[in-house]
Amino acid sequence: MPASPGSTTPSGTAVATRSELLAAPLPELLARAAAVRDAAWGTRLTFSPKVFIPLTMLCRDRCGYCTFAKAPARLDSPYLPIEEVLEVARAGRAAGCHEALFTLGEGPEDRYPAAREWLAAHGYASTVEYLVAACAAVLAETGLLPHANAGALGPDELAALRAVSASQGMMLESLNPGLDAHRAAPDKVPARRLATLEDAGRLAIPFTTGLLVGIGESREDRLDALEAIAAAHARHGHVQEVIVQNFLPKAGTSMHRHPPCPTDEFLWTIAAARLLLPPDIHLQAPPNLSDDLAPLVAAGIDDWGGVSPVTADHVNPERAWPALGILRAATEEAGYTLAPRLTVYPEFALDPVTWLDGALRFPVLDASDAEGLGRDHPWASGGESPPPDLLAPSVATAPGAPGRTAEPELVPAGGAVAEVLAGVLAGETVGEDEIVTLFGARGPEVRAVAAVADRLRSEVVGDEVTYVANRNINYTNVCTFKCKFCAFSKGPLSLNLRGAPYLLELGEITDRVAEAEAMGATEVCLQGGIHPDFDGDYYLHVIRAVREGSPTIHIHGFTALEVTEGARRSSLPLADYLVLLRDAGLRTIPGTAAEILDDEVRAVLCPDKIDTEEWLEAHRTAHSVGLNSNVTIMFGAVEQPRSWARHLVRTRALQLDTGGFTEFVPLPFVHMATPLYIQRRSRRGPTFRETLLMHAVGRIAYRGAIDNIQLSWVKLGAAGARQLLRAGVNDLGGTLIDENISRAAGASHGQMMDADAFRALVAPLGRTLAQRTTLYGRVVHPDGQGTVLAGVH
Ligand code: SF4
Repeated sequence: MPASPGSTTPSGTAVATRSELLAAPLPELLARAAAVRDAAWGTRLTFSPKVFIPLTMLCRDRCGYCTFAKAPARLDSPYLPIEEVLEVARAGRAAGCHEALFTLGEGPEDRYPAAREWLAAHGYASTVEYLVAACAAVLAETGLLPHANAGALGPDELAALRAVSASQGMMLESLNPGLDAHRAAPDKVPARRLATLEDAGRLAIPFTTGLLVGIGESREDRLDALEAIAAAHARHGHVQEVIVQNFLPKAGTSMHRHPPCPTDEFLWTIAAARLLLPPDIHLQAPPNLSDDLAPLVAAGIDDWGGVSPVTADHVNPERAWPALGILRAATEEAGYTLAPRLTVYPEFALDPVTWLDGALRFPVLDASDAEGLGRDHPWASGGESPPPDLLAPSVATAPGAPGRTAEPELVPAGGAVAEVLAGVLAGETVGEDEIVTLFGARGPEVRAVAAVADRLRSEVVGDEVTYVANRNINYTNVCTFKCKFCAFSKGPLSLNLRGAPYLLELGEITDRVAEAEAMGATEVCLQGGIHPDFDGDYYLHVIRAVREGSPTIHIHGFTALEVTEGARRSSLPLADYLVLLRDAGLRTIPGTAAEILDDEVRAVLCPDKIDTEEWLEAHRTAHSVGLNSNVTIMFGAVEQPRSWARHLVRTRALQLDTGGFTEFVPLPFVHMATPLYIQRRSRRGPTFRETLLMHAVGRIAYRGAIDNIQLSWVKLGAAGARQLLRAGVNDLGGTLIDENISRAAGASHGQMMDADAFRALVAPLGRTLAQRTTLYGRVVHPDGQGTVLAGVH
């Protein structure tokens, strides 16, 4: 079975010997290389959206194939001034890039007085010193992650660059010391380049290197270079990728009559690299140097390298980058998916203490998604940017949906996601590993996961979309707990954040309940901070205050943390305390306080809160005394998909025991005003792809256990909500008169939706809207008669 994209980093040693590589027929090598790539990286091919910054085109080397290096007389300025550097970087930022790749000649100050003079006039002792300053400026001003490609450097230079760049690179090119191409290039002496590779490893620098193929070297020479790279990686683990680049002759160079690298030699080298290097080293071939991309995929690459929507390839200016759409099409036609990455690969980004200078850790985190890849869109939960459209129009499956043209693609062509979906369609239950695999879906795989979830939704609950008319009452925002993600509470952590501390009078709660009922609400949702002055009786007083406002309104309230604290402060067993609350009028409890039910993650998010087992036990106990509840997950702050999968599996197991959960409510982390993000310790919430998958995978994982999947429109907005309704969701949650918690965290969507707004959301999908009670009975509205409740509530 192919590896899931999010699975543990593959590692290990070469899978072919040198003599096998030299003797085997090319088709056999290609097939073996592709199989190794598939086993290691599944269906995912990555690329890095970046800008190229040619800091200086002066170089002391004279390589026989190079058109990048120029003489000072041919340049306006020996170095690109900082303002121009920043201009390029800002354009890259605006175009969605994550990386600033600095390309430059080697040691030009040793050859050109003009370089020395420019550096001296600007206060720099060397090109590398100026490069450090330029990287620092780009990082600080734009957040783009610098990748320094400065050639053969000494350890001090590498160390200085490590403080301002997320990764560095240097092509080994070839270890053959006798190549004409390098005769006038002192920096291309193999020993010098091997020393740089080794020093980078000692300094724990995520490092990119590679081979230039077809400049006169032999196959044996290439294997020598690959073996040297593998040996350095075995010592330090720092080689993140190897680029295999094909030589193309260029006019104006001494090698302009040299034949281009033959395709077979190029493909042989890619396959040999895949088979000789450990599989955990990524393998890249530049997409702009080949006319046909499919053979590169078939030879075993898993990365396309940098692709810029803004700048040209300054090293190969005659070869334009393929547009992203073309690259995506070529990738998907080959049966793979395309994912943006950062300059530093996930295996390194997810281990920042080992691989990144302290100054780079937050910029990398800030640009990352949950798998350590690059965020693929500016959308953020609770923000104003509209979401990307992840679902093809044909995925709308509801009968009569406008624009419905075909049945959705239920299973993509191949790979681990397809295998899991085929199992789901055959009735299998997904386990933790399968759930992680589904969370790794990209491109057409996302549409396929959504289509399967949509089908399950249709089978389980039909086409009706439900909502509940409710009001949130957050009775206090004062809290003794110190949850790092919470922008709502006004404890010591967040005194500088918006809003003043408050505690509602009980009479105010009564008034709000009466007002809500008059407005048609059937439910009040009660949640608040854990006020230091509360005793266990406080929650009973709140219930009585609600009952004074309405004898019948459904009371949905008090998280697992609140009831656990209430019981503790009352010195009562939890079950006894819950019975008191139930007898006073409490009907259901919300799933909030679950955050991520994985204690490793809770230790970061909410170290002083109830742990996973206590949350599960609180809900088990609630179910045992007849109180229903729901499952929430607050995702996208610091954790990876493995923790999401554990959360789903643990809550599903409880549901299969008790049957007490009514719905699953994913809550995408709204980062803007949270202490965790302000302290530069979290991502900016989930991506929209992750958000959509959380709902769709929830539908799949909870099949036969939890029938209702609810979205949180406060965090998603209408455009996001509509896509999720096509990915397994059947419930819109509450109208939420007064919603303070997401808004405190920075969410910009409104405080209230009404039936008309919900109807407008649902109608274009060809689905019908129904008002429900808290426990999924239906609310009937005879004309002019107000709200009449039908069914249980
Ligand atoms: S999440 Fe709840 S328990 Fe944690 S600080 Fe905020 S209000 Fe308090």
